[in-house]
Amino acid sequence: MHKRLFIPGPVEVRPDILEKMGTPMIGHRSKAASALQAGIADKLRVLMATENVILLSTSSGSGLMEGAIRSCTRRRAAVFSIGAFGERWYKMATANAVPADLFSVEPGRATLPEHVEAALATGKYDLVTVTHNETATGVMNPVEGIAEVLRRHPDVVWCVDAVSSLGGARIDVDRLGIDVCITSTQKCLGLPPGMALCSVSQKAYHAAEQVPHRGLYFDFVELYKYVTEKESQYPSTPSLAHMYALDHQLDRILAEGPEARFARHHAMAERVRGWARERFALFADPEHLSETVTCIANTRGIDVSALNRALGEAGYEISNGYGALKDRTFRIAHMGDATPADIDGLLAAIDAVLAQGGTR
Ligand SMILES: *Cc1c(COP(=O)(O)O)cnc(C)c1O
Repeated sequence: MHKRLFIPGPVEVRPDILEKMGTPMIGHRSKAASALQAGIADKLRVLMATENVILLSTSSGSGLMEGAIRSCTRRRAAVFSIGAFGERWYKMATANAVPADLFSVEPGRATLPEHVEAALATGKYDLVTVTHNETATGVMNPVEGIAEVLRRHPDVVWCVDAVSSLGGARIDVDRLGIDVCITSTQKCLGLPPGMALCSVSQKAYHAAEQVPHRGLYFDFVELYKYVTEKESQYPSTPSLAHMYALDHQLDRILAEGPEARFARHHAMAERVRGWARERFALFADPEHLSETVTCIANTRGIDVSALNRALGEAGYEISNGYGALKDRTFRIAHMGDATPADIDGLLAAIDAVLAQGGTR
């Protein structure tokens, strides 16, 4: 039996989108491929509220994260981490010999504007990375306040990991002044994994031009030049299957309307939070709760694997805690094309398992 996924990626994918993945191939240097890629970029610009250049990458989101920090750090990066995915950005920097410092908070807490201000006041950094939505802890960072800090440091390139939030929560890239905003297909966009995308500002591009060793596959200068100078083409062969599906899904997303989509995510989040507060507790700082994934503190000490096994028999799958939080928490993702009614069905199924004592 297929288990409906309520894990923070990959998410459940609608049948019409899976069908688009099977569209017959075209040459990747054709005019048709250029038109497909340009159309996707136009639609993404609407969703991201930006006029910046859009890059697509045949990789998961991590590829563009690594490409961004490697390509755009001229002197030194300040990496703000609130969990596993923030730390990943630091590991990418060190693995690529990019000078970087890690600024962490306790799990469940957010990166605050004053943390960013304190680091930038040293004058040591010309690139900042922030996780918009930390999937490991269910925290959504206050990017509005962080944006105000970055505005006072106009030479700093601001990179945002929006992998588990773009398409599920508002991120107005240009209003916030985000230079590189990155996401993957398999989370709030509701597609299969295998493609990543980002917006790139001219500032980020000009920063990258000054960096001598940017790697090759994820070289932001090369990618940017192909897209802007060669009719939305890519240096290597992209996943056209994903592009067909993404193009179709972006039409659906814009038809639903970004506002309505974000409101739907908020409604799902509120249902899960209410349920979790009554039965367990929320793990994250209540002032910075994620709109797309809820991390629940396992206050009853249930066996999360047993819960998931029992849920599997009912046709559902949720997620255990991430890394060190594996048994102390569990996570319910409410992202992509799921509906509040789907969430109600899931929560009822969990209640049934809890009532039957299937978690001891
Ligand atoms: C899933 C996730 C990633 C990693 O994305 P991939 O597409 O698996 O490379 C990075 N950051 C966050 C916040 C995520 O949720």
